[in-house]
Amino acid sequence: MVHGHGEVGVANASFIVEGKHAMVIDTMTFPEMATGIVREMAHRGTHVNAVLNTHHHIDHVGGNSLFADVPIVAHPASVQALQQLGLPSARYDHLMPQFRGRFDTLVLSMPEPRLDQLVPPRGGVVQAFPAAHTPTDLAVWFPTSRVLIAGDLCFIGVTPLAVNGLISGWIAAIDALIALQPAVVVPGHGPIGTGEDLGVLRDYFLAIQRVGRAAVAQNLSSQDALALLDTRPFAGWLESERNLINLERAMQEAAGEIHQMNLSAMPPSTRQP
Ligand SMILES: [Zn+2]
Repeated sequence: MVHGHGEVGVANASFIVEGKHAMVIDTMTFPEMATGIVREMAHRGTHVNAVLNTHHHIDHVGGNSLFADVPIVAHPASVQALQQLGLPSARYDHLMPQFRGRFDTLVLSMPEPRLDQLVPPRGGVVQAFPAAHTPTDLAVWFPTSRVLIAGDLCFIGVTPLAVNGLISGWIAAIDALIALQPAVVVPGHGPIGTGEDLGVLRDYFLAIQRVGRAAVAQNLSSQDALALLDTRPFAGWLESERNLINLERAMQEAAGEIHQMNLSAMPPSTRQP
C-alpha cells in the first residue's frame, strides 16, 4: 500500500495474502492510516495473522495497535531500540509538524522479538541487515515472484535518512539486495520500483561516503561538505535537507565516531540543545 509521496512520517505498508490469511509488513505512523489494510482484508474475507515491523521507526510501527490481537514481531535489536526510545511526542511534533499533537494520544503496541515464530506466506524470506538505515533493518524477499519488500533500506524519489544508521552498512545492504535481482522493489517511502532504483540509491550513498571522507581528510565543516556534494543526479527527491544529516553521518563514520557496534552518537545538526 503506497502511502502519499513518502514524505516524512508517511511510509508504505504491505500485506501478503495466501489463502485466507495475510501477513502485514509495517503499520504506518497512526492506526487510522492503516485502516485501509483492515478494510481490504475484510473485503477479501482474509484474516491478518501476523505483523512484521521492518525497523523501529514510528512511521513503521505506529499503527501496530490496530493489529493488537495477532502476533506483532520485529528483530530483537529493533525492539530494544523502540523500548529505549519510547514515544517522545515533543520530538515527533517537531520532526513531523503536520501531525503535531497527535502523538500525545498514540497508543503503541510493542512488537515481540520473536522473528523465529514468523512464517511468511508465499515462501517469503526475512533478511536482516545490521547497521544500515537503523541498527537492524529487515527486508522480505519473495524468490518465486522476485518481489522485494525493502522497508526503509530503499527510498524512491525521497532522500533517504541515515540519522540512526551507517552509510557503509547501508551500501552493503543495498549490494546484497541488488544481488537478489528483484523484479519489483517496494520501498519504505515512495512509489514501487525495480532493482534499478536500488542502483540509484547506491550511487547516492557512494557520493555521500566519498564527500564525507574527503571532508574529514581536509578538516572541512559539514556545510562545506554539502557544497561539494553534486546533487544533480538526485534533483527532485523530497526531503533534500537530509543531505546534510547523511553527510554528517558519513563524516562521523570516517572520523571513527560511529561504527557497526555503536551508532549512538547523533549527527551534530540533529542534537538537541
Ligand atoms: Zn525508517
